Amino acid sequence: MTVEIICVGTELLLGNIVNTNAAFLAERCAGLGLACYYQTVVGDNEGRLAGVLGTAMERSDIVILSGGLGPTEDDLTKEVAAKVCGKELVLHEPSRAAIERFFAERGTVPTENNWKQAMLPVDGVVLDNPNGTAPGVIMETKAAKVILLPGPPNELCPMFDSNVVPYLNKLTTRVICSQTVKVCGVGESRAETMVKDLIDTQTNPTIATYAKTGEVHIRVTAGAEDRKAAMKLIKPVVKELKSRFGNDIYTTEEDVTLEKAVAELLLANDLTVTCAESCTGGLLSARLINVPGISDVYKTGIVTYSNKAKKNILNVKKSTLQKYGAVSRQTAEEMAKGAAAFAKADVAVAVTGIAGPDGGTEEKPVGLVFIACCVKGKTTVDKYRFSGNRGKVRESAVAAALVLMRRCILEYFSEVTFGKKEK
Ligand code: ATP
Repeated sequence: MTVEIICVGTELLLGNIVNTNAAFLAERCAGLGLACYYQTVVGDNEGRLAGVLGTAMERSDIVILSGGLGPTEDDLTKEVAAKVCGKELVLHEPSRAAIERFFAERGTVPTENNWKQAMLPVDGVVLDNPNGTAPGVIMETKAAKVILLPGPPNELCPMFDSNVVPYLNKLTTRVICSQTVKVCGVGESRAETMVKDLIDTQTNPTIATYAKTGEVHIRVTAGAEDRKAAMKLIKPVVKELKSRFGNDIYTTEEDVTLEKAVAELLLANDLTVTCAESCTGGLLSARLINVPGISDVYKTGIVTYSNKAKKNILNVKKSTLQKYGAVSRQTAEEMAKGAAAFAKADVAVAVTGIAGPDGGTEEKPVGLVFIACCVKGKTTVDKYRFSGNRGKVRESAVAAALVLMRRCILEYFSEVTFGKKEK
């Protein structure tokens, strides 16, 4: 089965918003084993939208459109798609009632144009939208299945996962399942080299690597007559990956992020944590605080951007700052130790670096970052050299700090459990 993605919106064409829906849909479709050969972005223009949809329906089995389902004049995806599919729009009473409820719950009243969203193609499969007012819809024609989804990602993504995935799975007698092995602390090219033989020789399951900031995801995808059979094919490959990557795998669960894995490690071992951040300015704390339940172990975090703050709050020695500079192994180490003392935390992570675009020298270039992690008094400091702009350097530093935390905690426990007993 082939699938094609059309994202509708003049804002996308102008570069005002990044097309994250295309990335999400493409990744999900690949995971479902659907071949996607084309993606198009088209503005809010009736003629051009009808043109690209017609072409897509001729060459693909499934066409997924995102955006343009809203109430305003320029939201014309549904009207155009219904015309191209030869379907009349009729009032869909449950959607009308859902819109009424949506506004009542928020204590507001719909405007006249909101009712336009309850006009849906006759015979269409309606997809509920608990996060907004525009329902999605699927139209089935001889040429193709046409799936219309709302533009806002917080509406499109859950609608796709809860309504579209089961629909797509039913279209074929084969079920496509996948499992993702998430690896951290191993670069993309090394990870790919480590699995190249598997990628080259396997056809079912297939193995694909996806580089993320600070991590690599290895997706194992198998097709079979049912889920149980597909998972049976996936299992030995995941086992093989586990033996190759060992402790560098932080999860094989879809919904576990790197920060969640680190948080689980802290929570499971009852370790309180703090972050002392310079160039990342609170981003590391923010990622940890993304995890619900972190309040059991995260009590406080500190942004110490200036030298004065590093001295006054974290007790970094004046002589250290003068001799080695704020971006140095020595300063990072004293920051971590100072933060552990300040917050009375079991684990303290400190980040200091040059995010750019200014401030770099030959000796200390932009992208140079030192990260220190102190676990119950034992401090490890690593030096990194990240590339990219200011945002990318800061994002990479946060990911590296999470990876270092995880490594230091695991090392601490392996020493406590094995090393010391063996001595
Ligand atoms: P609404 O009911 O909110 O009007 P809609 O289905 O009409 O939704 P659009 O009006 O096309 O969708 O887009 C609404 C918002 O959704 C955009 O301003 C943008 O923030 C986001 N959005 C739309 N398309 C995309 C996309 N392809 N990728 C990421 N975000 C998008």
